Amino acid sequence: MKLYKKPLLELVFEAATIHRQFHNPREVQMSSLLSIKTGGCPEDCGYCPQAARYHTDIETHKIMDVDEVLDQAKNAKANGSSRLCMGAAWREVRDNKDFDKVVEMVQGVNDMDMEVCCTLGMLTEGQAKRLKNAGLFAYNHNLDSSKEFYKDVISTREYEQRLGTIENARKAGISVCSGGIIGMGESEEDRIGLLMSYMEMETPPESIPINALVAVEGTPLEDQKPIEQWELIRMVATTRIAFPESVVRLSAGRTKMNMEAQALCFMAGAGSIFAGDKLLTTPNPEFNEDQEMFSILGLLPKESFADAPQPESKPDEINIEKKRRETKRLKELEDAKSSDTIHKFEPRTIKSVDTL
Ligand code: SF4
Repeated sequence: MKLYKKPLLELVFEAATIHRQFHNPREVQMSSLLSIKTGGCPEDCGYCPQAARYHTDIETHKIMDVDEVLDQAKNAKANGSSRLCMGAAWREVRDNKDFDKVVEMVQGVNDMDMEVCCTLGMLTEGQAKRLKNAGLFAYNHNLDSSKEFYKDVISTREYEQRLGTIENARKAGISVCSGGIIGMGESEEDRIGLLMSYMEMETPPESIPINALVAVEGTPLEDQKPIEQWELIRMVATTRIAFPESVVRLSAGRTKMNMEAQALCFMAGAGSIFAGDKLLTTPNPEFNEDQEMFSILGLLPKESFADAPQPESKPDEINIEKKRRETKRLKELEDAKSSDTIHKFEPRTIKSVDTL
C-alpha cells in the first residue's frame, strides 16, 4: 500500500527502472483475444455481459469450428499478434466434443508458432494436462479482485475454486496468466489485496493482466463510473514493481485512455496490449490506431516465445481414437450403401414339441 500510494511520478520512475532490469522496454507484445464460444454462461460475474442471467445485447454463439479459428489466428498473426487467447463462456471445462475441438484449436495455433492461451473457466488437472500436451502455452484464470471484495461481484463460485484451477494449470506445467479488474467499486485495499493473493503463491503468475472495467448496459455494474486513467497507471506500476519478472498486460479499458496515458503505462512496465477492435465482447482500439501508437512511441511488437520455449504439440490420444472411429463408421455406411447383397428373409421354423 505504501508503494501504491507513492507520488505518481516517483512510482512510475521506480517501476520503469525495474522494468528495464528484467525486460526490453521497447518491446510490447500484441495479443489477440478471440471468443470461441460467446454468451449463455451460467455464472453471475457482475461485470460480464456473457452471463445468461443478464439482459445484454451481445450475440451469443456456440463453439466455433476449428478451421474458422485457425483462419482468424492466421489473420491475427499477419497483423502482428504473437499470442492468441481463446475464450469460451463456460463455468468449467467438460470432457466432451467441444473440449476435443479446443484441443485441436490449441494444436493448430501452436503449429503456427503463436503462443496459445485459453480461458475456459474451471479446469481439472487432467484437462490441463491434455491442453498442455496439445501445445498450450498459458492458461488464463483471473482472480479479479481481493478475496474480500470478490464475493460482492461473483456468488456462483468461490475464490478458492479459482485458486484451485490456477494450481491445476501449474501442476500441468502450463504458464499462468491471472490478473484483475479495477473500477468495479473496490477500495484501494482490495486492489492491493489482489496483488497480495499473487504474492502468497509459491510461483506468481508469469502474466498479469490489469483491466479497467468496461461497464456494459444490462450487467449489475452498468452504472459504475469509469476510473481515472491515473488509477490504471498506478496499478500497472505497482504490479510491475511487485512482480518484476511477470509480463504486465494492459488489457480491457484502453478505449477510454488517450495515447499519453498508455505511454505512461508502457513506461511503468506494461509489456502487452490486446490488438483488434474487440476484446471478447467489449470494444478495443482499432488495429491501425495501435500501429500508429507503436510507431510514434518507438515500440516494437514482441516476438512469440521470447520469454519461454515453445511447447511441443503431441498427438492427442482421445482425438485420434475419435477420428479412427468416425472413419470406421463412415466406411461401414459407404459399404452398406454400395453393397448389392440382397438380404433374403428366411422365416424361422418352429420345431414341433415332439422334436424338442
Ligand atoms: S466472466 Fe467468464 S465465468 Fe464469469 S459470467 Fe463471464 S463468461 Fe461466465
